[in-house]
Amino acid sequence: MEPGSTQGGLPWESESVRAVRESVREFAEKYVAPRAREIDRDNAVPEDLLKMAADMGYFSLRVPEEYGGPGLSLLESVVAIEELSRASSGLGLISVVSGSMVVYPIARYAKPETREKYLGLLAKGGIGAFALTEPCCGSDVASLQMTRAYRDGDEYVVTGQKIFITNSVYADFFIVAARTGRVEERHRGISLLVVDKTSCVDVSKLEMMGYRGSGTSLVYFNDCRIPAENLLGVEGEGFKKVMMTLNEGRISTSASGLGVMQAAFDLAFRHAMERESMGRPLIEHQFVAGMLAEMLNKLETSRLLVYTAAFKHDSGSPDYVKYASLAKLHTATSGVDLVRMAMQVLGGTGYSRDSDVERHYRDIKMIEIGDGTNEVQKMVLAKFLQGRIKV
Ligand SMILES: Cc1cc2nc3c(=O)[nH]c(=O)nc-3n(C[C@H](O)[C@H](O)[C@H](O)COP(=O)(O)OP(=O)(O)OC[C@H]3O[C@@H](n4cnc5c(N)ncnc54)[C@H](O)[C@@H]3O)c2cc1C
Repeated sequence: MEPGSTQGGLPWESESVRAVRESVREFAEKYVAPRAREIDRDNAVPEDLLKMAADMGYFSLRVPEEYGGPGLSLLESVVAIEELSRASSGLGLISVVSGSMVVYPIARYAKPETREKYLGLLAKGGIGAFALTEPCCGSDVASLQMTRAYRDGDEYVVTGQKIFITNSVYADFFIVAARTGRVEERHRGISLLVVDKTSCVDVSKLEMMGYRGSGTSLVYFNDCRIPAENLLGVEGEGFKKVMMTLNEGRISTSASGLGVMQAAFDLAFRHAMERESMGRPLIEHQFVAGMLAEMLNKLETSRLLVYTAAFKHDSGSPDYVKYASLAKLHTATSGVDLVRMAMQVLGGTGYSRDSDVERHYRDIKMIEIGDGTNEVQKMVLAKFLQGRIKV
């Protein structure tokens, strides 16, 4: 069979996607899963594992081959993210941000030398972060104002703070959304810049409930001076670039949720097959079988939406934006339901800190918040219905 051929099947059944899944799964099961509890407990990915994952190209998934990266399609990369997140959500999220959300704006909007520099850095095992959210402003991106940048000769000076920035602890550089115009200009006065993590950047790691180990932090930029060519695109035109980045990010974040869902489902299914109650395995009791069937339904419908959104993106179909929001909203709500049911199937064991389902329960809630909350996805979808978003 030709590489990429689906033999009349679905795009995600192709040889190339299967090969990505197999190789990432092998790595994740061997090196990541055994350390998932340690990552969660310590809120950190051990250095040796981080380096191994970086060397495998998991933090540069979408960097094109011409810059030395793996050059995966979005569909291939979501499968990689799913498999990593199935083993450890924290490691999976590092991959979502560095391998997808950081690559996108650099590949699309950076000047050639800047693009070469930072995509090359990622390809060599570097890590990037995407700094958008501020203490004042998350969903309301057009209001951001706590990080400002101004041009000074051949440089930009970046000052201010960001919150909940994944990868900050490990990152070599940040894509920063900064206010370059007046606050009243809203979306018109925002610019995107690349800021190296030098001594002008302070990072304060946050103790999040789930997705621990992803290096999610408060970040302070203290008069960081960067070359003017680190501006992505045109000054004041960063808002649209942020939105485009979030569209790809939503598909990648959903894929991470999918991995968490799969892990919880696997545990519940195994438990229902092995544990007996009243003389029969749990799965032979109708209430439990019903929960498993519902969980499978939520898992596979989420998977279909995530892969469809990624495939539409790869095929250049403009309505992938709608599918990105559909995938994100569906995976988030179905994921929270699925993991809750998984815990129910495991009973007291599931509620114990010794159980992995307890970790998945904390993790999956993030999918309803990060990269645009459920409510934001609903707003986007309603705008599609009203014809206010044209594709
Ligand atoms: C683990 C984790 C990792 C993250 N990583 C990153 C990262 O790497 N980079 C980054 O920039 N950010 C990151 N975030 C931040 C995340 O994107 C924001 O938390 C999210 O966008 C919501 O913003 P907020 O927290 O300010 O909530 P708010 O925007 O204040 O929203 C609070 C609530 O109000 C609702 N709401 C807000 N506005 C409206 C409205 N107009 N209509 C209806 N409902 C509304 C929201 O849906 C939500 O329920 C991360 C968050 C988490 C939890």
